[in-house]
Parts: sequence; structure tokens; C-alpha cells
Amino acid sequence: MNIKEIIQNIRNSLSPHKELSNEAVLGFLRVLENVREEDASCTEIYSKLDEYVECEVDKKDAARLMPLIREHLDICHECCEEYEALLDVLNEKEKK
Ligand SMILES: [Zn+2]
Repeated sequence: MNIKEIIQNIRNSLSPHKELSNEAVLGFLRVLENVREEDASCTEIYSKLDEYVECEVDKKDAARLMPLIREHLDICHECCEEYEALLDVLNEKEKK
């Protein structure tokens, strides 16, 4: 679901009512829930992070093989730090 669709959904659930009805609120919550489901969670990313970093160290196109992880690293500071730390460790290993 893209942002435009989300806004459309929110407007659709709001427009028939001048005041915010319970139904509209529930609709809005449902929309938010869908968004969250599509968002990869940090735990999920974390469990695949070593795989991702290994790909990168092997000079494979990690970002293309695992676009969800790349995307998450762009938006999540914590996971990105974790990723950089892992990358450092593996790069050190390579040198030896
Ligand atoms: Zn994260």
C-alpha cells in the first residue's frame, strides 16, 4: 500500500461523516494496522542482518537481493548502526 492509497482510504472513511464516527476511527486504525504489517520489524531485520552483511562482504548485490533490509536500514537508525558494526567485524575478518 502506498501513501496515496493510505490517504485515499482515510478520506474515504471520513468523507461521509462530518464528525468522526466510531466507524471512521476503526477504519483509520485498520489502515494503520495494514501499514504496520508491511513494515518489516527490527527483530525481523536483525535476524537477517548477518546474512545481508555477508552478501555485501562477498561483493554480492545485497541491496537487490534483500531490498526490504536495505529499505529498513535507510529509515531505522538503530538497525543501521548494528549493520555498520557487523560490517566492520566482517571486514576485519576478511583482512586476516
Ligand atoms: Zn530497525
